[in-house]
Amino acid sequence: MSGNEERRPDLAELERPALEAALVECGQDAFRGGQIFRWIHRRGVTDVGAMTDLPLDLRRRLAAEFVLTTPTLAHREKSSDGTEKFLLRLADGRQIESVFIPDTPSMTFCISTQVGCAMACAFCLTGKMGLARNLTAGEIVGQVRVLAAALAMRDTPFNIVLMGMGEPLHNYDETMKALRILADPYGLAVPPRRVTLSTVGLLPALERLASEPVMPNLAISLHAPTDRLRGELVPLNKKYGVAEIIAACQRFPLQKRRRITFEYVLLAGVNDSPQDARLLAKLLARVKSKVNLIPLNAAPGIPFERPSDEAVNRFAKILADAGLIVSVRKSRGRDIRAACGQLIVEGQKKSAAQQLAVVAFGD
Ligand code: SAH
Repeated sequence: MSGNEERRPDLAELERPALEAALVECGQDAFRGGQIFRWIHRRGVTDVGAMTDLPLDLRRRLAAEFVLTTPTLAHREKSSDGTEKFLLRLADGRQIESVFIPDTPSMTFCISTQVGCAMACAFCLTGKMGLARNLTAGEIVGQVRVLAAALAMRDTPFNIVLMGMGEPLHNYDETMKALRILADPYGLAVPPRRVTLSTVGLLPALERLASEPVMPNLAISLHAPTDRLRGELVPLNKKYGVAEIIAACQRFPLQKRRRITFEYVLLAGVNDSPQDARLLAKLLARVKSKVNLIPLNAAPGIPFERPSDEAVNRFAKILADAGLIVSVRKSRGRDIRAACGQLIVEGQKKSAAQQLAVVAFGD
């Protein structure tokens, strides 16, 4: 790639209004921008040469003046339960993982927002990688484009959960831009109500999210009812504590009948006692909430254990008896390390300590 080429704008990174403006700047009609957007996002084309309703000279010009970047599918692996993990390679050679989870009851794409993650939650394998870099909006959307094409699902409705690698609110602008591109009716038209953003509780970004015109569903990774315990599991809690997060959730503008999901990874003997359940119930009593319990997906290098089914049920029952809506997340794709907190890509880690946590893809 020449130095000149590096500077060419990427069609995959442009929202439709920007694409229209770029075409007008090229002396074209604005509607050409909409056509190109539709080819990329609705029809899944990865090469401007294939945009057959554009005049040939325009296609040539686009190829000369822009790039159109799409992540490449490096590897794909299917779990015995139907869950599929996709290893995608980005233009700079970095790799990320995206997961397809069928029938839950909807079809769900679990998408990454960063290469690695800076949050370093004590039980999360991705956190062991550290943050390599943010994904661009085009790369976030690119995962959806690649999965929809690979699974022949461009005409099937699906949900998106931003629960892959990374902390979406730590990459706020690109994540929100990606959601706008995904929602565009000329593209895949995934409405925000079909999208769930999961966050560890980056408070300033959470406040900002509360004022967005279009808003995804919100999930908060809580994992503990007290600052003492949460501080041990989620380092960010030292900055933004439990009470502040709950207060922000109480202020969060929710659509009718919508609730904030509180994710709670259950760790044997750490945060799964009846007392923890009672404290959690008290904490969430005045929030429009539902609780999603996630029994730990254990992995080498993760110093915790998954509680017994009895302990999980006991914890869930205390919450339900206190009037909360509770579900237990069924672990999907554990045999291919596609389950929550198990996404990690080898060859991108730095320190020897981090190497301890390495799980080779496809092991
Ligand atoms: N950074 C965001 C998005 C990741 S979502 C967040 O933390 O919310 C992934 C979910 O899986 C989070 O709730 C996370 O805490 C949880 N998780 C991480 N490691 C896990 C593990 N080993 N077992 C089960 N769940 C895990």
